[in-house]
Amino acid sequence: MLIELTKVLEQDDKVIRQEAHLEQDTIRVAGKDYRLSELEPALFEITNLGKKQVQVKGSAKIKTVVPCDRCLEDVEQIFDLSFEREIDMKLDEEERRQSEEEYNFMDGTCLDTDVLVQNELLVNWPIRVLCREDCKGLCSICGANLNHGECGCDREVLDPRMAAFQDIFSKFKEV
Ligand SMILES: [Zn+2]
Ligand SMILES: [Zn+2]
Repeated sequence: MLIELTKVLEQDDKVIRQEAHLEQDTIRVAGKDYRLSELEPALFEITNLGKKQVQVKGSAKIKTVVPCDRCLEDVEQIFDLSFEREIDMKLDEEERRQSEEEYNFMDGTCLDTDVLVQNELLVNWPIRVLCREDCKGLCSICGANLNHGECGCDREVLDPRMAAFQDIFSKFKEV
């Protein structure tokens, strides 16, 4: 949702509290889309700090499902986000674009809550996801999930053609 930030500037020390539901229920990370579900709606507290400075504090609790790096089984991820930004309302859109700060969550003088929450998800996105520390992964020969039991393949002596295949497979997984 969009929250008009100039409203908070009408009065010194004014605070606006606003709940915001996720409108966009997917997020794109490294070319893949993940579905988001809201466990707790985002809460925003917007404060007039004076001199046209606005502070935005927010929190949100969001769940998603990410495949395990080794066995590709779904792993639940819960993001308990809390964040804080200061926005200089003296800056116009062009100045914001040139600023070192990231202002992509601003739409004119409005705060786009979805973009701000998505930024936080991206920052907190796990680099590596395992269903459990000792996940055994997939058999490089038959693709069976080894957490569910041994498939019986002899993975010690790899056929050179299979080795090439495995190489491609692991490269594919890195993307
Ligand atoms: Zn796993
Ligand atoms: Zn196997």
